Amino acid sequence: MDRIIDLHTHTTASDGSMSPGELVKHAKACGLAAVAVTDHDTVGGIVEALEAGQRIGMDVIPGIEISADYKPEMHILGFFSQDTYQNIEPVLMQLRKNREERNPKIIQKLNELGFEISMGEVAREAKGSVIGRPHIAKVLFNKGYVKSVHEAFDRFLAGGRPAYFKKDKLTPGQALKEISDAGGIPVLAHPVHLGLTYKQLDDLLGDLSKAGLKGIEAYYVDNSAEDTGNLLRLAIKHELLATGGSDFHGSFKPDIELGRGRGNLKVPYELLEKLKGAAQ
Ligand code: AMP
Ligand code: ZN
Ligand code: FE
Ligand code: FE
Repeated sequence: MDRIIDLHTHTTASDGSMSPGELVKHAKACGLAAVAVTDHDTVGGIVEALEAGQRIGMDVIPGIEISADYKPEMHILGFFSQDTYQNIEPVLMQLRKNREERNPKIIQKLNELGFEISMGEVAREAKGSVIGRPHIAKVLFNKGYVKSVHEAFDRFLAGGRPAYFKKDKLTPGQALKEISDAGGIPVLAHPVHLGLTYKQLDDLLGDLSKAGLKGIEAYYVDNSAEDTGNLLRLAIKHELLATGGSDFHGSFKPDIELGRGRGNLKVPYELLEKLKGAAQ
């Protein structure tokens, strides 16, 4: 049997629905050989995930996902070792502060649009962790204002929709440097979400490589087989590592399963061996 892995997941430390311990157990139940925890703007779930991994025998890779300033949005994953992941915490602290400035604006706008929703309700939904738009979407869903989290994004929360507000972000170059300086490996997340042509992405990867990019997420839940082929080709061309993951969020994205995505994902174990090799 092929050994498969998942290098892009979210827990209750940010906007996933499973605790880090539950996620690691779930990875085992799904037959994965390794799982990376890549919460938005926090390493708060890593200790619990590492402990669970040690207890039940699962290879857990400490990671993060941060947003960089790029239109519409650029996400960068950082992969660390057990010894380095805490080095990135001071940067993450500032990014979390930026979120705290954005969230009340979104709530106020939703109130103006006629929805009764409060910061307290959203904080309760987030259970004290890093608050993201999926939590706001879930409250709108719980109160019957929308039929799904997805609909909340499409109508109100996604870029260009009425309750969208930008948060202050690092530039792509800063994000790459901060991750590298902390001892991590910076990887461009879900390149298909950038909405670029092959040529535009090729050019962008040239620029980002010069700025310190080390890998791209070649396997991703929203990829077509052709997308993945193109990304693997671009990885070779730019001498970048390839990674892959489902972007698992548990019940916040109920159609996406850990490891398998929407049934279309199979990330080979070999990618992790290369990633770990590059970290040394
Ligand atoms: P935030 O970190 O608050 O900006 O929220 C980012 C989260 O929202 C990520 O987990 C995304 O996967 C999710 N997200 C962004 N756009 C959409 C969308 N159009 N539909 C569903 N989820 C989305
Ligand atoms: Zn998320
Ligand atoms: Fe992302
Ligand atoms: Fe993600």
